Amino acid sequence: MSEFDVDLFVIGAGSGGVRAGRIAAGYGAKVMVAEEFRIGGTCVIRGCVPKKLYAYASRFADEFEDAAGYGWTIPQKPVFDWSKLVAAKEKEITRLSGLYSANLGRAGVEMVASRAEVIGPHRVKLLADGREMSAKYILVATGGSPIMEPAIPGVEHCVTSNEVFDLEVFPKRLFVVGGGYIAVEFASVFARLGSQVHQAMRADNVLRGFDADMRNGVRDALTHAGANFHFGVLPTKIEKSGAGYRVTLSTGDALDVDQVLLATGRRPHTKGLGLESAGVELDGAGAVKVDAHARTNVPSIYAVGDVTNRVNLTPVAIREGHAFADTVFGGKDVVVGYEAIPTAVFTTPEIGTVGMSEEEARSAFDIVDIYSTSFRPMKATLSGRAEKTIMKIVVDGTTDRVLGVHILGHDAGEMAQLLGIAVKMGATKADFDATMAVHPTAAEEMVTMRTRSARFER
Ligand code: NDP
Repeated sequence: MSEFDVDLFVIGAGSGGVRAGRIAAGYGAKVMVAEEFRIGGTCVIRGCVPKKLYAYASRFADEFEDAAGYGWTIPQKPVFDWSKLVAAKEKEITRLSGLYSANLGRAGVEMVASRAEVIGPHRVKLLADGREMSAKYILVATGGSPIMEPAIPGVEHCVTSNEVFDLEVFPKRLFVVGGGYIAVEFASVFARLGSQVHQAMRADNVLRGFDADMRNGVRDALTHAGANFHFGVLPTKIEKSGAGYRVTLSTGDALDVDQVLLATGRRPHTKGLGLESAGVELDGAGAVKVDAHARTNVPSIYAVGDVTNRVNLTPVAIREGHAFADTVFGGKDVVVGYEAIPTAVFTTPEIGTVGMSEEEARSAFDIVDIYSTSFRPMKATLSGRAEKTIMKIVVDGTTDRVLGVHILGHDAGEMAQLLGIAVKMGATKADFDATMAVHPTAAEEMVTMRTRSARFER
């Protein structure tokens, strides 16, 4: 008999926690997972999954228009019904949440619908019924939550990505604060669904940290889709006004809108978890500090995913959860590698990227070669749609190794996933050149860009 109630107690049934719990149980561990909201976490319930579904919904607007160029007549102006989309999304995420639960159940994991707080290195308390449990190991996988900043008067009127999927009424006028992933993705979705979108950010362009060509391309595409950008501008006050809100800007101007979406970042969800009382060290941002094996300074307590604020992406949390279970319960020594993580931004067109931006490469390598192209995608020829696909390969001019690949265009996320393999394997530009093209595709440009666009030497 073990001296503990369970071998592993997981706090949070999101991407990282569910994977860790399931794999640990597969190794024979007795596992309990506590979740205070819904099984599946941010990604499934109010993040990646519903976001992608809404991006699909928004893209039909272009499809209906483009169809005319291909001989179709659409007899009536298509009508979009927000409440039907919200209901369809709800059905799908409920199905996925059910699958997560079923998989955990099949693996023998016990789930409890409760907030859990750490009360010692081996003890947690379930707030739903006051029960205390002892665990050989505790895994903190509580993710993050949106921040309510800047803390201006009226900030409480804003919605965040937590609420925006389920707005009761479609916002015909939407004000978005922030220029990161979440802000641009929702600006893109709502602009295409028919909202008049205003987006304000403190920076002079969207998506800080991404390659400049991608940032400019997204900015131009969203502007073309009707979004109004306010760079270097933030709201200073938000007041209720009729059925909506009046947003006063740092320029002194004011705008009347139906909703204000605050997308100024997320914070690790550690508040009130009892971690400090158990002696677990947090960093200045409130993130759990962990080593390469996801272990905190308290040997029995581990943490994975956004709560550790390393690379805040679902696949990373899943990998970290899996590696934790392999290491602690599977007798393997698995360390997650964080190099060359492919990722996508689901604006329309979307960004797919892996590796270094031109700017990063130029500050790290002596000679950097750039291969880039910008073209009208084939589908836009008959539709007449004014749109551009942008592709860029960043190469170490000394070794010929591909350092980064950046794409703005249809299915760029799909391309980034596959290019991620090549970049991760250390492919050279010569390897790209030696690969036969798939014709006619947009992706073939990746293996047919022969002429260098620029060389930068330090
Ligand atoms: P980001 O960090 O991407 O963007 C935050 C934005 O808010 C930036 O424009 C930032 O400005 C601005 N900002 C931050 N603090 C303030 C402040 N106090 N006042 C005014 N503006 C502020 O965060 P998101 O919330 O968009 O996304 C969170 C994370 O979720 C991402 O980092 C990403 O890892 C993940 N995510 C991934 C997605 C994907 O893979 N497709 C989609 C959605 C989220 P500045 O640039 O000036 O710092």
